Amino acid sequence: MRTNQPQTIYLSDYKVPPYLVDHVDLRFELFENGARVHSILAVRRNPEAGAGDIPLELDGDSLVLESVGLDGVTLNEAAFENRGDKLIIASVPERFELAVVTWLEPQNNTRLEGLYKSSGMFCTQCEAEGFRCITYFPDRPDVMSRFRTRIEADKRSYPVLLSNGNDVDRGDLDDGRHFVSWEGPFPKPCYLFALVAGDLVEKRDTFTTCSGRDIDLRMYVEPRNSEKCDHAMDSLKRSMRWDEEVYGREYDLDIFMIVAVDDFNMGAMENKGLNIFNSSCVLASQDTATDLAFQRIEAIVAHEYFHNWSGNRVTCRDWFQLSLKEGFTVFRDSQFSSDMGSPTVKRIEDVALLRTAQFAEDGGPMAHPIRPASYMEISNFYTLTIYEKGAEVVRMIHTLLGPDLFRKGSDLYFERHDGQAVTTDDFVKAMEDASGRDLSQFRLWYEQAGTPVLTVADEFDAEQGIYRLTIKQTIPDTPGQTDKKPQHIPFALGLLGGKGESQPLRLQAGEQDAPTERVLELTGETQVFEFHGLDGCPVPSLLRQFSAPVRVRYPWTREQLLFLMSHDPDGFNRWDAGERLAVDVIQSLVGTPKDAPVDSRLVTAYRHLVSDSSLDQALVAKMLQLPSEAYLIELAESADAPAIHDARERVLKHLAIALRDDLIACYRRSVEAGAYQVTPDQIARRSLRNTALAWLLQINDEEGRELALRQFREADNMTDRIGALRALVNSDYEDDRAQVLEQFYERFKEDPQVVEQWFSVQATSDRAGQLPQIQQLLQHEAFDWKNPNKVRSVVGAFAGQNLAAFHSPDGSGYDFLADQVCRLDDSNPQIAARLVTPLTRWKRFAPAHSQRMKTALERIRDKAGLSRDVYEVVHKSLVG
Ligand SMILES: [Zn+2]
Repeated sequence: MRTNQPQTIYLSDYKVPPYLVDHVDLRFELFENGARVHSILAVRRNPEAGAGDIPLELDGDSLVLESVGLDGVTLNEAAFENRGDKLIIASVPERFELAVVTWLEPQNNTRLEGLYKSSGMFCTQCEAEGFRCITYFPDRPDVMSRFRTRIEADKRSYPVLLSNGNDVDRGDLDDGRHFVSWEGPFPKPCYLFALVAGDLVEKRDTFTTCSGRDIDLRMYVEPRNSEKCDHAMDSLKRSMRWDEEVYGREYDLDIFMIVAVDDFNMGAMENKGLNIFNSSCVLASQDTATDLAFQRIEAIVAHEYFHNWSGNRVTCRDWFQLSLKEGFTVFRDSQFSSDMGSPTVKRIEDVALLRTAQFAEDGGPMAHPIRPASYMEISNFYTLTIYEKGAEVVRMIHTLLGPDLFRKGSDLYFERHDGQAVTTDDFVKAMEDASGRDLSQFRLWYEQAGTPVLTVADEFDAEQGIYRLTIKQTIPDTPGQTDKKPQHIPFALGLLGGKGESQPLRLQAGEQDAPTERVLELTGETQVFEFHGLDGCPVPSLLRQFSAPVRVRYPWTREQLLFLMSHDPDGFNRWDAGERLAVDVIQSLVGTPKDAPVDSRLVTAYRHLVSDSSLDQALVAKMLQLPSEAYLIELAESADAPAIHDARERVLKHLAIALRDDLIACYRRSVEAGAYQVTPDQIARRSLRNTALAWLLQINDEEGRELALRQFREADNMTDRIGALRALVNSDYEDDRAQVLEQFYERFKEDPQVVEQWFSVQATSDRAGQLPQIQQLLQHEAFDWKNPNKVRSVVGAFAGQNLAAFHSPDGSGYDFLADQVCRLDDSNPQIAARLVTPLTRWKRFAPAHSQRMKTALERIRDKAGLSRDVYEVVHKSLVG
């Protein structure tokens, strides 16, 4: 059992930093057995910190301290206190120079925080608190400094030496070593510091900014990946142009660099001028990456680039403000993706993620507002709430203000706070000041956790032609928060007449030129809206475009949903109606006998989607995806995962049998001619064709099997190849399954990103991913416990997406996950804490499951020397 419980840190305890560091001069000596870091800090007393003696306290983690000097004089051990996590000097002058030398062992750093080695190269990850693993420093984002960095290493092994800013000096040293010096002109918090040293190839391009400056764009990758850079480079140039056009933001340094790293805890990191990416989020070629990966890479490259303004030029005062940079930047990258592809499809994807995973987080033991009030370990707060709900909150401001005033607000925000470390409140204030709108009630979105529930009732007064909507708002209790106040919610809606025609929304009788869509503003607990001058009772199209991150409860009939599926002019709500209908049908079958009938209207609706080629094929491709098991579980009160899996599979098979000929025709229709392109149209065709294959193989269709085998052999791109592979792996054709898996591996075994996909196809399969097979994957030659992507593609994929197997009634899936979490906790606590999530939802499951999940959590809690990261998550889920 752990003896000292981790401390909780509170937002209300925030104090300005007592000392500021204006300049940081770093010298790294990199060796095979370790690294020596010489740091010289220009420190001064913060005039805002008040009077009186305040000791200097610097943060540190896992460092060997070699020396400390103050204004040129080496301090003896009595002059300072080294507590390991803090270096304290009781008395310092108003202004001084501090020289610290530390020794670290990057080659043994398995936490992947601070400076570490990945595939023979040195790299860093400093957000949130990794810089303290490099040298002693006031490691908080409101201390902003100008950095100069000199890197020294063996020239043959590490010809490329990179850091933030511009390279200002380079040269050779003795013993075959060399150095490069980098200098950044803008003050930045230390979490944006980065260093890379390795044997990398360089890909170059240029971008001319709106003011005519030429920017040098460089990508650095291992030689074997040199053909996989084009897509990221093109995405970068599109992002740079878009940010100029849509937000008026120009790039500010002479060089912009991207480096791909195989071992990385996160997706990517926006270090100033030197973005470091997880290889899987940046490298792509037609032969090795799926459409989904191409789209994800474009979005992540854009996201990290956009941080240059929303995050780097204007940064967070403290980590409670994380959503200031993340929510805003996710919103920006989703706008960008919408503009580059299909806006409706992008919205569907964002909302599906939000409703499945963020709503689950908001209803679970780790529920927190987008600006949390406390945390134990900040790494645990890189959550869907901070990112995705944070983006939805910014999106609501955009909806309330309209695009022009929103842009005025963002201009004011960047102008007012350039070079500062600020709060979410400063962001909202800038939006208020620029627009003249009062957002004081809206601020509750930042303070209150939980997903608001809108209960909608309606009635039609035929005599007066008035349609009346009553909307009641409640916000469920969450850990530490009860009795919440109503929030300010933009609610977009339309009303459809009997033939699907949009009705004018007259809020007063006789209103002229009333619009057919309105954004109602909900601010009270219960509000009534009346729509006048209607001939008949309309069908409401509620919360169009998902205008707020809320749950809507309205007693839709299946007729209404079918009607909306084919008539709603809002593409998002058309998809939403289809999903609600499928959810309703599947839920009604959970726990019923195997031969319980499936509503034939669902078959009719899906036949229309599969066979009418005049429909928007991108939307159809999305509408054909049945709701995921994870989403169905999220919606259930007391989830029986195997029963949900069974009901969903029965519906899928029923549809596949009924639509068998239509699926074959759909497949043949969507086989395109012409070169592979990542366009919305081609992506939709590939998605349709692979959905058709997947369904056909679920019913062991011989023709489907032949189509899949041929597609697997002949595909000229990864989307089709892996689509066929997945369909075969999830079929009952066991010999085919074994054969295609082996052929696939033999062909791509040298490519880690493809091997990760190969692992994940198996780990998520209810046929190939049963526990004994998962255990075998962990023994596979390509599996590596030190590589987070491999862990995620086997253990994470199994526990998060193979729900029937993970929730096996004997509890073996839970025990398995607990074992892996304990194992990883010693080497990489950040990843361990993220993996444990599926167990933390134990209260949502049927009693037989929840008790076993709880037991597994207790076993993790009782592990000796448990990390703060895992402790916080497990502890909160057991007591919460
Ligand atoms: Zn980010």
